[in-house]
Amino acid sequence: MKYLSCKEHVEIAMDHIIDECEAAPNMEVLSEQQKLSTTCSFCEQHPTYSITD
Ligand SMILES: [Zn+2]
Repeated sequence: MKYLSCKEHVEIAMDHIIDECEAAPNMEVLSEQQKLSTTCSFCEQHPTYSITD
């Protein structure tokens, strides 16, 4: 399970991981190149974080 999230949706992404995987989420900051090549899992902005289980 992996979500990409902007600053606004990082808590939602972490809640999804906790609910769906019953695991503590791991959060990583994306590189500039990674940010610009994709969008947040919850909106159309560029993401800042990668949240995985
Ligand atoms: Zn977002």
